[in-house]
Amino acid sequence: MRNIAVLGATGSIGGNTLDVIARHPERFRASVLTAHRQVEALVALCVQHRPDLAVIADPALEADLSRRLAAAGVRCEVASGHAALTAAAAGHLCDTVVAAIVGAAGLESTLAAARAGKRLLLANKESIVMAGPLLLEAVAAGGGALIPVDSEHNAIFQCLPGGRPGLHRSGVRRLILTASGGPFRGRTRAELADITPDQACKHPNWVMGRKISVDSATLMNKGLEVIEAHHLFGAPAAAIDVVVHPQSLVHSMVEYVDGSVLAQLGNPDMRTAIAHALAWPERVESGVPSLDLAACAPLQFEPPDLATFRCLALAFQALRAGGDAPAVLNAANEVAVEAFLAGALPFLSIADVVEAVLAELPAQAVVDVETLCERDRTAREAARRVLRNAC
Ligand code: NAD
Ligand code: MG
Repeated sequence: MRNIAVLGATGSIGGNTLDVIARHPERFRASVLTAHRQVEALVALCVQHRPDLAVIADPALEADLSRRLAAAGVRCEVASGHAALTAAAAGHLCDTVVAAIVGAAGLESTLAAARAGKRLLLANKESIVMAGPLLLEAVAAGGGALIPVDSEHNAIFQCLPGGRPGLHRSGVRRLILTASGGPFRGRTRAELADITPDQACKHPNWVMGRKISVDSATLMNKGLEVIEAHHLFGAPAAAIDVVVHPQSLVHSMVEYVDGSVLAQLGNPDMRTAIAHALAWPERVESGVPSLDLAACAPLQFEPPDLATFRCLALAFQALRAGGDAPAVLNAANEVAVEAFLAGALPFLSIADVVEAVLAELPAQAVVDVETLCERDRTAREAARRVLRNAC
């Protein structure tokens, strides 16, 4: 029996994970559930999954959570705050951690799970973008496993022998990440000037949280994924390509030196990647229907439009700059996306904010988590300053 901590249980990945877990009560158990501020949703999940521990990140809501759980007849431990979240990720109540918090807020708990040697199912791409080498060191030191849940990286993991690197030793020439192109594929810059948050969050193929939905619309999501692939698979920037594939059925590919290209296909439903990561190296049912290729034909592929969707180019720039540039990129993007979602920044200006902050804070070497978090704060302040000057 695998005891699983679902960090970010009330989110889109959290919900999909719990759906897969519930299909296999003989194998999987949700032993820890966490949320940011959604007390009601967390209580509902606790009623259904009966965890040992429920954690709410906002300490002001702990009493409310305890009261409602008692009223619902759920007896489990209750905790709150970021230290409790981190302790839960590393604690004895779980052997597996699904890192499904959104943004840099997930870094500490992801690192804690890695250090504690948990089987770490990584959805929280921002943490590996920020702290790639530190996270990999923590996984190695902890002796656990890191299994990517992001569909592209899960696909590459499935297409690589043994799931992981030395790419050169495995005869890999190139990693090819597919991108749906988002809701604005094919549009010109002029057509993107007045985009609203709701339009940006309406993804053609996937239902996701609002932050990653905006990232998908700007193609920053693909940019973050390029950096994620670099760290996960030890691939240099020059060996990572992006191809737009609007149907989102080919989740990514690996090209070998002999010309073979291996792809992983499936319906666009995160439960496939989650089930794969939960059961690996075995396979279990995920609830995802069979792929009907004939009904989906023809499959299209085209190059990304880097001039319109500048965030992807900026992410490649940050990856090439190295050091903490990806952390700066991520922090600036989080601030810009928040401002866009609040109606305070035009869609096209997200890239301007990121570009300005990258220019202001040249790459420095990554030393440790403390300096990285300090750099994250500095980059957020710089982004807020750029925002104030722009408005
Ligand atoms: P979401 O917004 O739907 O859910 C986020 C979860 O994190 C919620 O449970 C929320 O309560 C929690 N959370 C938010 N801020 C927090 C904070 N400050 N402290 C503690 N908890 C906090 O997001 P999502 O779409 O499920 O995405 C989660 C992560 O997975 C992101 O990093 C995203 O990039 C990645 N991802 C998502 C998908 C997808 O299909 N949704 C696919 C691939 C990767
Ligand atoms: Mg993805």
